[in-house]
Amino acid sequence: MRDANCVFCKILDGVIPSTKLYEDNDFAIILDIGPATFGHALVIPKNHYANIYEMPEEMLSKSICLAKVWGEKLVKAFHADGLNLVQNNGLAAGQTVYHYHLHLIPRYDGDGVGDLWTPGSLSDEQRKEILEKLA
Ligand code: AMP
Ligand code: ZN
Repeated sequence: MRDANCVFCKILDGVIPSTKLYEDNDFAIILDIGPATFGHALVIPKNHYANIYEMPEEMLSKSICLAKVWGEKLVKAFHADGLNLVQNNGLAAGQTVYHYHLHLIPRYDGDGVGDLWTPGSLSDEQRKEILEKLA
């Protein structure tokens, strides 16, 4: 399952070079070419799924388990102070490559990367609207 126009499929086929940290039958873990921090890596399924909604649950579970093992490995190896798991779906969420991937981003005190969001507020009206829309 590959998409001929997908950069990650091309990486998995060896058409585009990458720095591979790990590989098994279903996944590869590579270094991100535009890292947020030292050691930023990507967990990528070998089959082409555009986003989290297309991922079979078994694959999704496996990607999280790999993130746990490899996230901890990166943190220990680089003496990082924290770890972000980031997974973007859709343009509005910052997705630029439409092949599911999970970012492993080691974090370092004072790394300047910043937080993903600034806390807002939740009004009673919004709380009601949210609960109604999900009912
Ligand atoms: P996202 O914005 O969540 O879709 O993340 C896509 C990520 O893929 C970005 O962090 C890019 O730096 C990374 N990326 C794009 N092309 C390559 C490549 N050829 N090798 C490694 N990482 C890549
Ligand atoms: Zn792909």
